[in-house]
Amino acid sequence: MPIRYNAPDIINDPAWMLFHDEVKRIKSDKGMLILAHNYQSADILEVADITGDSLELAIRAQQATEEIIVVCGVRFMAETAKLLNPDKKVLIPRDDAGCPLADQLTPEMIREAKARYPGAPFVIYVNSTAACKAESDITCTSSNAEEIVRSLPDDLVLFGPDSNLAAFVQRQIPEKKIISVPDGGNCPIHNAITRTAIEEAQMIGGYIVCHPECTPEVSIAADAVVSTGKMKAVIADQKICHVFTETSMLYLLQKAWPDKILYGVDGAVCKDMQKTRAESLLDCITQEISEITIDELHAPRARSAIEKMLALQ
Ligand code: SF4
Repeated sequence: MPIRYNAPDIINDPAWMLFHDEVKRIKSDKGMLILAHNYQSADILEVADITGDSLELAIRAQQATEEIIVVCGVRFMAETAKLLNPDKKVLIPRDDAGCPLADQLTPEMIREAKARYPGAPFVIYVNSTAACKAESDITCTSSNAEEIVRSLPDDLVLFGPDSNLAAFVQRQIPEKKIISVPDGGNCPIHNAITRTAIEEAQMIGGYIVCHPECTPEVSIAADAVVSTGKMKAVIADQKICHVFTETSMLYLLQKAWPDKILYGVDGAVCKDMQKTRAESLLDCITQEISEITIDELHAPRARSAIEKMLALQ
């Protein structure tokens, strides 16, 4: 069932105000930059210096001059920040915040696919481990996957780990053949959104925007298929919108347009994204715990794969 979104009035909550003041004080004392992914909860989004999708956060992490970068999100995002700015201390409030999609791909799978299709480049979604990135040719995000695949001269492209994103790119570039590795890899949150959700949204009426991690039956029926970073732009002129992605995304959209009527999808919540809470962020920045390190065996090649993507931006 579509759920009409009600944004929490977080900035007028006295407990949040105390939390905000404490974070601000520590941040300024220690020279920290706090990045938060769009899927973080409202209290975290409102204390972050920068909010955005994976691509926006990666670019900002690379440019950071602060000595400590705190990434409120999941582990692969903090790893990306560390790879792009290796001299900085990178912290993650919850070091057990993983990504079930990233866990579906292993370096062995990439090596096997490359052996089966010699010469074919492997495009890896940033939602992956550093060890997997090290085996790949170039990274992409949901925001630039089509552009990255188009930029390659090859007709056959290996792509992982999200097969729904691969299928979306395949529809945009039918002249190339894209092979998903693993076959059927998916984000359990987006993959669980069904065609029924589309039908229910259509009964209410309004504009339907979905993330490219949604299944083909959902994304083909939606009005727009874009990354979270581009959602603001595509719904700018719409009054009633159904947003098919992690529900926390609706906070920033509603904040930008308080008068829009927004609907989310019941149950579209990423448990890993929601592990970061006010207490864990405060513990992290106070004690400087959960520092990200990357195995030097993987770091140079993983960094190169990300930098090749950023060079095309
Ligand atoms: S929403 Fe999906 S892709 Fe994003 S961190 Fe959660 S499981 Fe991974």
